[in-house]
Amino acid sequence: MLNKDMDTITAAREGLKNREYSSLELTKSYIELMESNRHLNAFITETPDIALKRAEESDVRRAKGAELGSMDGIPIAIKDLFCTEGVGTTAGSRILENFIPPYESTVTQNLRNAGAVMLGKTNMDEFAMGSANVTSYFGPVKNAWRSSGQKDLVPGGSSGGSAAAVSAGLAVGSIGSDTGGSIRQPASFCGIVGMKPTYGRCSRWGMVAFASSLDQAGPMTKSVRDAAIMLQSMASFDLKDSTSVKSVIPNFELALTSNIKGLRVGIPKEYRLDGLSEEIKQLWQRGVDWLTQAGAIPVEISLPHTKYALPTYYIVAPAEASSNLARYDGVRYGLRETGQSLDEMYENTRGAGFGEEVRRRIMIGTYVLSAGYYDAYYVKAMKLRTLILQDFQEAFKSVDIMLTPTAPSAAFASSEKMDDPIQMYMNDVFTVPASLAGLPAMSIPSGLSDEGLPLGLHLIAKPFDEETLFRFGGVMEEAADFNGNPPCFGI
Ligand code: GLN
Repeated sequence: MLNKDMDTITAAREGLKNREYSSLELTKSYIELMESNRHLNAFITETPDIALKRAEESDVRRAKGAELGSMDGIPIAIKDLFCTEGVGTTAGSRILENFIPPYESTVTQNLRNAGAVMLGKTNMDEFAMGSANVTSYFGPVKNAWRSSGQKDLVPGGSSGGSAAAVSAGLAVGSIGSDTGGSIRQPASFCGIVGMKPTYGRCSRWGMVAFASSLDQAGPMTKSVRDAAIMLQSMASFDLKDSTSVKSVIPNFELALTSNIKGLRVGIPKEYRLDGLSEEIKQLWQRGVDWLTQAGAIPVEISLPHTKYALPTYYIVAPAEASSNLARYDGVRYGLRETGQSLDEMYENTRGAGFGEEVRRRIMIGTYVLSAGYYDAYYVKAMKLRTLILQDFQEAFKSVDIMLTPTAPSAAFASSEKMDDPIQMYMNDVFTVPASLAGLPAMSIPSGLSDEGLPLGLHLIAKPFDEETLFRFGGVMEEAADFNGNPPCFGI
């Protein structure tokens, strides 16, 4: 049975190394937990047979004294957005319900090469569009955390299944994707670490595309060290993705030195939104105090175009989505509905295959790209995106990192914010600017709300400076001493 020495990547690495248990034993424990927690609906596809096979292979490697990967024998969960060879990959959509990719995404291949064991594919908002994991064709995911009122809460989105799985102890770690906040916001809602690397750090090849200029894969883990270990295996330069960047991949774990003395932390004044709740303000201030006590220097900075970030995102992301999703036409992939003509077949397929939120984004996207409105919306949004990037570049001349809240609230009940898309979009207000600028950022569980729910703080670093992000993340984690497991935690 699972115990405390098995619940993080760091601990499992030690346990396996010291032969306290085998990968097969570890994997079996996690499979049991995955199966006994189906009520959370965190997984779309469970792959116990693959997991057991890979665990056995890892044990054989270890027994033989063969070279081991950095995640050898460690069971993880994969967001169902990453193509996995021979294993259904749905992106949370009916249109891909029966799609079985004949290839493996680069990121999951890298993890496989590092010896990681895949437990299954996690539930997600359809095509990664959402902030509450309520748009999945396969039903909503439940957060393992509950408020004092005991209502079912959303896990955040779109990587809600990956976040819920790690938080509930159903996987040692998981991967998600982040386009505007989909790793960081669910991490905050579920009390785990969620990290979005610099755009281009991880290959997008084989990852179902939502908005190509923003999508980025990243780790979702119990600790900052775990995130560093996992990113190490995920990151690579990949000729198959033209936006993958050839840059040195440092040893991320070595960055966890705890030494942040004399480094400058930017506190963007525009993030102090009107109506920001008192508990989020206090949490943010506590974060500033922790970093100050550790020797860093807080500096108020200005990112003047912050207020345009959300509207810019909700033009750029749907525009790219409308183009990316054009490929689902009933001919090449997944679902096909019949029709009297080719056009009717397209219409029927797309009408039946896509859910409401995806259809809304396609409509917005095609509208802002249409001949009459392209200049008024899309081109203007692209100009604003440049201004937002320049704000960061300017501010990073005088600071090493920035600190903000991750989300404006804790997890909310699944019945809330459902009929107002704008309310739902507000969840991303703190995460979207870093996405538009392609910057690395991380959410660290930092405290509990008045209702006893997890709240995250958010660090943003310079491009390809994940090391500073991990260094500060480690300090924050230690200071926050967030040791909360949800009530239904498997251990
Ligand atoms: N919630 C945002 C959206 O719906 C972000 C999604 C994401 O990062 N994939 O677009």
